[in-house]
Amino acid sequence: MKRIAIIGAGISGLTVARLLHETNQVTIYEAADTIGGLVRCERLDGNLLHVCGGHVFNTKHQEVLNWFWQHFDKTKEFHLAQRNSSIFMPNGQEIPYPIENYIYLLPKEIQETAIQDLLELAQTEQDQYDNFEAFLQKRFGETLYHLYFKPYNEKIWRRSLQSVPIDWLEGKLPMPRVEEIIYNNFNHIAEKQFVHSSFYYEQNGGSQFLVNRLAESLDIRLSSPIEHICYNEETWSVNNEQYDAVVFCGNIRQLPSIIEGINIQPWTKPIAELQYHGTTTVFCEIDKNPYSWIYLPNKEYQAHRIICTGNFAPSNNAEGHMTGTIEFTDEISEEEIKRQLTTIPLHPRYITHRYHPYTYPIQDKNTRTMLQSLKKELASYQLFMTGRFVDWEYYNMDAAMLAAMRTAERINL
Ligand SMILES: Cc1cc2nc3c(=O)[nH]c(=O)nc-3n(C[C@H](O)[C@H](O)[C@H](O)COP(=O)(O)OP(=O)(O)OC[C@H]3O[C@@H](n4cnc5c(N)ncnc54)[C@H](O)[C@@H]3O)c2cc1C
Repeated sequence: MKRIAIIGAGISGLTVARLLHETNQVTIYEAADTIGGLVRCERLDGNLLHVCGGHVFNTKHQEVLNWFWQHFDKTKEFHLAQRNSSIFMPNGQEIPYPIENYIYLLPKEIQETAIQDLLELAQTEQDQYDNFEAFLQKRFGETLYHLYFKPYNEKIWRRSLQSVPIDWLEGKLPMPRVEEIIYNNFNHIAEKQFVHSSFYYEQNGGSQFLVNRLAESLDIRLSSPIEHICYNEETWSVNNEQYDAVVFCGNIRQLPSIIEGINIQPWTKPIAELQYHGTTTVFCEIDKNPYSWIYLPNKEYQAHRIICTGNFAPSNNAEGHMTGTIEFTDEISEEEIKRQLTTIPLHPRYITHRYHPYTYPIQDKNTRTMLQSLKKELASYQLFMTGRFVDWEYYNMDAAMLAAMRTAERINL
C-alpha cells in the first residue's frame, strides 16, 4: 500500500483518488474551501450557479462511460437532455447550430456566396492549414467565416485567429467535409442526429452533485494550498507529511515554484511561456427560452455565449425564475458587465459573477512534447501529473477522467 498525496480536488484529482484509494492510502489537498475546481456550483436564493460555464456530461469513450455509471444511477440521478443550440445573428435571425448545416435558412444573397465558396472548397485540399483562421476558412468558406466563425471566435480568443495555433484542435471541433455540409443542407439534417447532440445532466445540484459523489469517503483537506513539495531519499514531503508518490492535478505554471529536490530547470522557461485565457461567468435571470446554448457572434457586445442552465434541470431555478450564465473572455468589471447586459438578447438581469483566471489553455506546436518529456522525467521520481492545466489540454470532464484513469494505471504498476 503506497502513501499518495493528490494535489487538487477538481474532476482530475477526484478521479485519480477514487481509482487509487481502495489499494493505497490517499490524501487530497485542495486549495479552495470547496471541492470541484471549475465544475463547482453554488445555490443562490434557490437558483443554481455554475461558477464557470454550465457543465454537462457526455463522452464517446466507452471506458469513461462504464466507470462513470458505476458511481451514479443513470435514470434516478441524471436525465438525458437533447442539445438545442441556436446562433443569434446580428440581424436578429435565430439560426440553429451548427450554422454550416443551415445555409438554406440564411438570406438569399448569403446563400449564393456560401454555396459558391463550398464549390470552390471542393476543388481544393481541405486538410492543409497551419492556424485556426486557415482551418475555418478551408472547412467552411469565406462567407460563413466572416459571418459567424471569425466574430464569434475572436471574442473567445481575443486575438487574431491567424495567431491561434491548431494543435489543440484535434477531436475538439467538428471537422465536416464539404460533401457532408452540402448533404446536410440538402437533406435538412439537424444536430439531433449527431453523436454529441445529447448530454447527461444531474437532476439535482448540477455538476457539484457529481464531484460530491466522487469525493465520498475520501480524505480531503480543504483550504490547503500546497506551495511547497520536497523530494528527499525517495520520499515526498507535502505539508510536512511523508508520501511515496504525489499526483499533481493543479496548474503546471505553478510547479517550478513549488517543487524542491528535483531539477526541472530545462522546462522552467517553456512552462512560463504557456498561454491561456480566463473567463468571467455572469449569472443572470433571463427570459424563458427553449435553448441549451446560445452563440453570440454579434461584435457589438463582448459576451460570446449564453448557457441556459435554467433549462438543464427544473431544480436549477427557484420557483417562477429562469436563470443562465453568460460568458465573457478574461476579466470584466461589474460596471462593464452591467453595461454589456443591456445589449444582450433575452434581457439578462444581473445576479452575480465569478472570474477564473485559468479556463482555456492555449497550446502551441511544442507544448505536448515539452510536457510529455517533463512528465516522463517526474514519473521516475514518483511525481505524476494529470489535469486540464497540467496537460495544458482543452479537456472536457470526460477527457480529464480518461487522462486520470491512465495516470492511475501508471501509479498502480
Ligand atoms: C467555460 C467552461 C465550460 C466547460 N464546460 C464543460 C462541459 O459542459 N462539460 C465538460 O465535460 N467539460 C466542460 N469544461 C471542461 C471542464 O471544466 C474541465 O475538463 C475540468 O473541470 C478539469 O478538471 P481538472 O481537475 O483537471 O482542473 P480544475 O477543475 O481546474 O481543478 C484543479 C483543482 O486543483 C486545485 N489546486 C490547484 N493548485 C493547487 C495547489 N497548489 N494546492 C491545492 N490545490 C490546488 C484547484 O483549486 C482546483 O480545485 C468546461 C470548461 C470551461 C472553462
